Amino acid sequence: MQPNIDPINELLVAHGLRRTYAAKLVLGWFLAHPDITYTHAQLLSALAQDQHEELDKVTLYRLVDRLTQVGLVLCRVDVHRVRRFQAMPASVHAIPHFECQSCHRDSPLQDALKANTHDLERAAQSALEALKALGYQGYSMDFAVRGVCADCVTEAKH
Ligand SMILES: [Zn+2]
Repeated sequence: MQPNIDPINELLVAHGLRRTYAAKLVLGWFLAHPDITYTHAQLLSALAQDQHEELDKVTLYRLVDRLTQVGLVLCRVDVHRVRRFQAMPASVHAIPHFECQSCHRDSPLQDALKANTHDLERAAQSALEALKALGYQGYSMDFAVRGVCADCVTEAKH
C-alpha cells in the first residue's frame, strides 16, 4: 500500500461522499467484514459495541442508503423482507485493466476510459444484482481487456 493514502478516504471521495467520521466508520466496518450481511439494527449495535458509543440512528440509515446508492454497499431483502447490507463484493470493483499480450504490462484503464469506468461498474453491479435475484451464487467478474498496447504496436511498425 502506498503511504499517505487511506483507501477508505479514497473510496469515499471517488464516489462523491464526504469524508465524515461516521462515513469512514461505517464504510470501514463493511469493508472489514466483507462476508457478513447486516440489518440496520445489527449494524448499529455492532458499531456501538466496537466504538463504545452509539451512532445516531438517522445518520447511520442515511449513510447506509447513500453507500448503497453509489454502489459501495449491496442491499438485499431477506426472506423476512428485512433489508440486509453487505460490502459490495470486491470483484465488482476490479478497475478495468488492460493486459498487453506482447509486453505483458498490466495497466489500469481508468484514465483511458475516464467516466466510462463508472458506467462499467454500474453495469456490472446491476448484472450481478439481476443474477442474485435469479438465485445465482458464487459468481465473480473481472474487467480485463486483452490485446496489444499502443507502445508495442508502434514498436512493431518500426
Ligand atoms: Zn505492450
